[in-house]
Amino acid sequence: MTDQELVAQAIAMQEFSYVPYSKFPVGAALLCADGTVFTGCNVENSAYGSTICAERTALLKAVSEGRRSGWTAIAIAGQGEDYCWPCGACRQMLYEFAPDLRVLAARRDGAFQTATLSQLLPHGFGPASLNMGRDT
Ligand SMILES: [Zn+2]
Repeated sequence: MTDQELVAQAIAMQEFSYVPYSKFPVGAALLCADGTVFTGCNVENSAYGSTICAERTALLKAVSEGRRSGWTAIAIAGQGEDYCWPCGACRQMLYEFAPDLRVLAARRDGAFQTATLSQLLPHGFGPASLNMGRDT
């Protein structure tokens, strides 16, 4: 699958966003090494703090279906004029499972930029951070 195809899947997922408050639909598509794609959209809530982002929706779908590894890239597509990079909470959640994940951030016109998750969250806190020098 090409990067453009993954971005296209993220753009298509905006259709399912539930965004009555922000009016800012976001779609995401998480690609695994075997070609499996887990998609997601943002789902808002009247209790704003309960809102979940598109990329975390895709992440939860993957993990809840037994896919915790082998993630190669995630595309995130918003409808703004700027590239739709993941928020801090999503960067942290993704880092847990795939610190070297490629992130494709798309804007309204479908153009996108890429970065690795480690570039977006340098010195990130992950499972290895909990080792604290103990033998496991
Ligand atoms: Zn987020």
